[in-house]
Amino acid sequence: MNPKLNTLPLAVFATSGPLKPLVIAGPCSAETREQLLSTARALSEIDGIHILRAGIWKPRTRPNSFEGVGEIGLKWLQEVKAETGLLSAVEVAKPAHVELCLKHGIDILWIGARSTANPFTIQELALALKGVDIPVLVKNPVNPDVELWIGALERLNKSGVKRMGVIFRGVFPYEKTHLRNLPRWEMAIEIMRLFPDLTVLCDPSHIAGKKEYVFEIAQRAIDLNFHGLMIESHINPATALSDAAQQLTPLELKGLLQNLKFRTATSQNPEFVSSLEQCREKINSIDFQVLELLGRRMGLVKEIAEYKRRNNVTILQLRRWEDIINTRLAFGHNRGLPDAFIKQLFEMIHKEAIQLQTELMNKPGNGS
Ligand code: PEP
Ligand code: MN
Repeated sequence: MNPKLNTLPLAVFATSGPLKPLVIAGPCSAETREQLLSTARALSEIDGIHILRAGIWKPRTRPNSFEGVGEIGLKWLQEVKAETGLLSAVEVAKPAHVELCLKHGIDILWIGARSTANPFTIQELALALKGVDIPVLVKNPVNPDVELWIGALERLNKSGVKRMGVIFRGVFPYEKTHLRNLPRWEMAIEIMRLFPDLTVLCDPSHIAGKKEYVFEIAQRAIDLNFHGLMIESHINPATALSDAAQQLTPLELKGLLQNLKFRTATSQNPEFVSSLEQCREKINSIDFQVLELLGRRMGLVKEIAEYKRRNNVTILQLRRWEDIINTRLAFGHNRGLPDAFIKQLFEMIHKEAIQLQTELMNKPGNGS
């Protein structure tokens, strides 16, 4: 499937310099008029920040947590805009949120990760957005499902939403790491590949979960050619009513932005171009050799399946599998390849081999 979206460039995202990413910054939640205004004043002083984010209705994991200030927060955002010129971005999860945001002149809407995971919710939001020209940013779903993410974009687009972008915020971590959400970068890269004109932002705050990791994720996103960042910033993070550990003060955010290294997507330098071309040629040739060898390996797996079938021997041979893993790990390790990578690679190869043998041994007419 090669999906197509009928989208327009996000004109509102024009930034001052050609290489500077778009930065949306602001508190996880609007809490008080004072908190929002003082945060916005400080952020508006930072070069490159033109859009303020603020959660007005908060999707909380457990009840009895702070669930947002609601409509009054939209009025504070209007005040912010009048005073600082900052545009506003707000999360919507229900048609009523859309209606209130439109009524209060909110500039950009975003759809949160939990909503993207639910096609019913997306369909309702899409209906509420019918005939309305407002930029909508769609966060990836909490589970690592690119199709679901694409489905949300398609539903919105079918409803006439033309100015769209996405925000990558990582996925629920089934394995424990130092991060709050796992940055399965391949999900965002797949979206970039399928929709080359779509604005793709990264939300390093919700990936990091702790303020000390926000920089490394932001830099990684810039290195991967993301068009911009959405970063949580609060005038006094220690007192924040949601996501206190991951919010930066405006001053810290300024420092973070100054320390980011920007690289160009490409270079016209002839030496760079020719070295890159040569390396790519070699990589192409290696990739095809890898595939050729994998094809031969699977051919041998087929032969083995036939011997096993004739001798009525089980498919899975645990000792052999253990030996494969150990010897390949040692061999790869000596060539500087990370253990986790080798393990994952051979698990995939082994899974495919088992699958192939199962099919061959259970083929009708192959009864033993
Ligand atoms: C947020 O941006 O504050 C938020 C709730 O994010 P997410 O939907 O990515 O969890
Ligand atoms: Mn948050």
